[in-house]
Amino acid sequence: MEPLKGLCTIVTPDLALEQFAEQHAAELNPANAIHGGEQVSGVFNTQRRWPNGMILRVHFLDGDPAVHKRVEPIAHEWSQYANIKFQFGAGPDAEIRVAFNPNVGSWSYMGTDCSLPQLAGKPTMNLGWLRPETAETEYRRVVLHEFGHALGLIHEHLSPKAEIPWDEEKVIAYYRRTNGWNEAYIRSNVLALPEADEFTAFDTKSIMLYPVPRELTKGGYEIPWQNSELSEVDKEFIAKIYPFPA
Ligand SMILES: [Zn+2]
Repeated sequence: MEPLKGLCTIVTPDLALEQFAEQHAAELNPANAIHGGEQVSGVFNTQRRWPNGMILRVHFLDGDPAVHKRVEPIAHEWSQYANIKFQFGAGPDAEIRVAFNPNVGSWSYMGTDCSLPQLAGKPTMNLGWLRPETAETEYRRVVLHEFGHALGLIHEHLSPKAEIPWDEEKVIAYYRRTNGWNEAYIRSNVLALPEADEFTAFDTKSIMLYPVPRELTKGGYEIPWQNSELSEVDKEFIAKIYPFPA
């Protein structure tokens, strides 16, 4: 079975790194250490924000230059709404390191986790199903979405209001095969709700609402693939999180 298109995973550092990841986030941006603060977004992990105004360097670890060329301008669209810039071609010590391994689907680490020193040299994002001939709408869905994770956004479909009837056995078998993860890791990354997140409205137009394939759910449940643009709410959220100077 090919990696299921549309399925995406936020990757979190493994247990041994988790506490360090929190410290790292707080060092980079002291606001990350404040719990229960201002709730600016239903889909934002308040503990992994980059410092506002940061230039995030991006490095392609592998992949086709024709694909790289199409990824870059799409990622930059976030910078129209967020006071964050992506600097491509930055070299291997970049904060965001993108791989194109076709066997492991699409995923990204969240926000400041990308720059954990323990992950140096390793991919922080995988864009597994983009090819030079892939349609532009598919590029937009995947690139806007994964760079949303890199900015610290989580999945809209993780809203408790979206209650997804995952077929847990199939989900575990799938990620074991595609990513080589063990059950505990799959449970905390795919099936569990992220900690410390509160959800406000459920935005069905969000780029962060990723489809849920029926192959991994019970009773034929699926969220079809629909959004390939930033929603109005996405733009407002990210502008609040990374505001431009007045
Ligand atoms: Zn995702």
